[in-house]
Formats: sequence, structure tokens, C-alpha cells
Amino acid sequence: MHPDCTETQWQSKPCQEWNHREDSHLQYALVHWRGHNQYVHRLSWALSHGHMVEDLTSNDFVCHHCDNPRCFEPLHLFLSTNQGNVADMHAKGFVYRGGAKNPVRGSNHPMAVLTEDNVREIRDIYARDPLVTQRELAERFGVTQTLVGMIVRRKIWTHI
Ligand SMILES: [Zn+2]
Repeated sequence: MHPDCTETQWQSKPCQEWNHREDSHLQYALVHWRGHNQYVHRLSWALSHGHMVEDLTSNDFVCHHCDNPRCFEPLHLFLSTNQGNVADMHAKGFVYRGGAKNPVRGSNHPMAVLTEDNVREIRDIYARDPLVTQRELAERFGVTQTLVGMIVRRKIWTHI
């Protein structure tokens, strides 16, 4: 998770979804900008951080804290390198395959960071031990505190 924005901060604002009938078949929303089609979330991140969207390279991925591809709320967006993006998606326990609507969930994916057993263990420890903190669990399992928070509140890995 990106240090620019805490989970409390980004969750304090609702998603802003860009819905345009002409691109409704696409996973990400497009907008015509200075003679080119640009992804709305990339444009939103660039403008809100004082950059030109044209300066973003193909290795600069604008990612969503909220995992909502059509969201362009600046607080929900963070910049990542290609590798970081993939790691972030795996850390959240899923990847999108070829823009498919059905994410590949869980540890069946070869690069998943946590196993389903880990997730069960995290929830179990957190439920049983009133003194354990999300930070301690994060350190124990080598993931971020934000991720632990999402796991124990069943925002992710919901199929377990
Ligand atoms: Zn959002």
C-alpha cells in the first residue's frame, strides 16, 4: 500500500466512477485528452499531483486502493512501477487476467503472497487475541498493516 495515503484517508471518500456509454465495454474508462485517448484514472492522478499525463510512461502504473477500475477519485489512486503494481495486486490476493471481469482469487495464483491458510490464521489470531495488533500480524506475515486490516474486516479474501 502506498504511504501517501492511509486506509482511513482513502476510505473517507467514496469512489467517483466515470461512466460513459461509449467506453462502457472497457474495464478502465477512457477520455479524449489533448488529441489522445487517456485512461481517466491516469489523468486524474497526473492532474492531482501536478504532472502531465503524457509524462507517465508505460512502466508508471496508476493503481487503485479501492480496486475499482472505473474510479478516478484522486485519494484512491497511487503510482506504482510495473512490478509494484503486480505485487500490490498479488498482495490483495487477486489478479485480473486479460481484463476479464472475473478476478483470479486466492493462493491458486502462483505468485500469491499469502496462502489461504495464512489468511485463516490471521483472522483466527486477531479474533482470539485481544492484545494482538494488526501491525504485529503484518510483521509476522510479512505484509502491510493495511492488508491485515482488510483481511480481518473481510474486505478481501472474502471467499475464505
Ligand atoms: Zn475508488
